[in-house]
Amino acid sequence: MTLPVRDDVPLAPLTTLELGGNARHLVEAADDDTLVEALRWAEARGLPALILGGGSNVVIADRGWDGLVVRVATRGRRFAATSATSATSATSATSDGTVTLTAAAGEPWDDVVADTVARGLAGLECLSGIPGLVGATPIQNVGAYGQEVADTIRSVTVVERASKRIVELAPAACAFAYRDSAFKHDPDRFVVLAVTFALRAGGAPTLRYRELAETKSLNDGTPPTLAQVRAAVLALRRKKSMLIVDGDPNRRSVGSFFTNPIVAAAEADAVAARAVALGAIARADEMPRWPASGGAIKLSAGWLIERAGVRKGQRRGAVGVSTAHALALVHLGGGSTAELLELAREVRDAVHGRFAMTLLPEPTMIGVAWPPPGI
Ligand SMILES: Cc1cc2nc3c(=O)[nH]c(=O)nc-3n(C[C@H](O)[C@H](O)[C@H](O)COP(=O)(O)OP(=O)(O)OC[C@H]3O[C@@H](n4cnc5c(N)ncnc54)[C@H](O)[C@@H]3O)c2cc1C
Repeated sequence: MTLPVRDDVPLAPLTTLELGGNARHLVEAADDDTLVEALRWAEARGLPALILGGGSNVVIADRGWDGLVVRVATRGRRFAATSATSATSATSATSDGTVTLTAAAGEPWDDVVADTVARGLAGLECLSGIPGLVGATPIQNVGAYGQEVADTIRSVTVVERASKRIVELAPAACAFAYRDSAFKHDPDRFVVLAVTFALRAGGAPTLRYRELAETKSLNDGTPPTLAQVRAAVLALRRKKSMLIVDGDPNRRSVGSFFTNPIVAAAEADAVAARAVALGAIARADEMPRWPASGGAIKLSAGWLIERAGVRKGQRRGAVGVSTAHALALVHLGGGSTAELLELAREVRDAVHGRFAMTLLPEPTMIGVAWPPPGI
């Protein structure tokens, strides 16, 4: 097979931040064979291989990637009833109403969500409007507005990089957690080739997230449809610049730059007490907090950032804090990754200085050091 290898390819246009240097080599993999062959090609030359989807959750160093970038461009969606005997059409359901969707890693995520909503399949509707490709969704267990992909993933088809074996992983093997998975901890082990979701045919939309559940358009007295929930999610995201829209000055970002801290209850109480002592709030119960698994507490990184004195719209040269969301750092054009990281460290250190809480970055850092606070 002749691989379509390109040399010295600018990566910034392949990312939503529009930042980062060049790739020494890049292969666009339109099928799984090309993808696996590209891995072999890099291995044979002793080069590191970086897998890139839609580039919406990566911060790439200004010096670029001194190796091979494999850009995933595989396509294909297959809908099937879980029992072959009852399948009569592409979206027919079994008696338990489950339809599986297997989507290739290179499918654009929001096209897939729109398709499931149009077919009346519940399970992904709250994840509308998230940029990127299907193959990246298991990596950080993508989530928003009361759903995460772990709720519906039935299996993840991967190629094991070392052996080139294709394996189907059950959810338990993926160790999904809040914005986390086994893939994130061992990024060089697997490449995701496809993801299979189990969806509910004719199922009701998920209205677990308060801001969404309270949306006016979903409270007109009739049960909301999947399409109405998708539209409401898109409207909420647009207001917060969490939807990429041409001309929006906040459009170049990775979405949330930091994850919400998950802490023990005692630590959450200590942060609230600090916030009261500093005069950020009058009473401890004014601090937003949500129960997380295992008795832990999820805090709001955006709230901590704003209470640490960081303002929405604050600029630092060619980068800044989104005018619509304190958790999103944006590139305003003509900037560098170094500038963005400097701002990110400032934000992180402001929160650490005020609340003794270390925010962790959500995107994957590529060729970029992320030192602990104070360094
Ligand atoms: C405006 C905006 C809003 C966002 N909102 C949300 C949100 O609400 N919730 C949320 O969870 N995220 C959100 N994100 C982050 C991002 O869109 C998601 O994490 C998305 O799944 C990343 O997909 P991608 O294809 O762009 O991945 P990339 O950025 O290309 O890659 C991300 C990581 O996954 C790895 N990777 C990618 N594809 C594969 C593969 N096939 N196999 C193995 N590894 C792979 C990469 O090597 C990298 O480490 C947002 C981003 C933006 C810009």
